[in-house]
Amino acid sequence: MQRTVHHPSVTAPLLITDRPEDGGYTPLPGGLTVDQAHVVLAHEVRAGDLWIADFPEATTEVDVREADHFEIPVTAQPRPYGSYCDRSCKGCEDETGDVTDAAVRYVILGRDESGTCLDAFRNEPVLIIRAAESP
Ligand SMILES: [Zn+2]
Repeated sequence: MQRTVHHPSVTAPLLITDRPEDGGYTPLPGGLTVDQAHVVLAHEVRAGDLWIADFPEATTEVDVREADHFEIPVTAQPRPYGSYCDRSCKGCEDETGDVTDAAVRYVILGRDESGTCLDAFRNEPVLIIRAAESP
């Protein structure tokens, strides 16, 4: 079942879809469902939250932004930009232009299996399940 939510800091409506069941999408752990997920801004994510999707920018401001589910949900360990890897990983490498600026704009929400930082704009909406609701 899908639902549309409005976040006070995001112009476009956000469409939360069910997790794809085919391809490489692993089921959510512990019987969690997308119904338990909340939209928060990236800088509001707390350690232990399960980060399951983000919302790519719509092409126009009136378009709905649809959840883009990750194949493997990420248990968030938020850290300041560059603090995991000294900006040397593949994810951070892309943002080496202005380090101070990047640190203001991005937050690292965790790392993937290969140790690459997973960054997000601080004020971007993300879909998470709070740690308190996880088993
Ligand atoms: Zn990095």
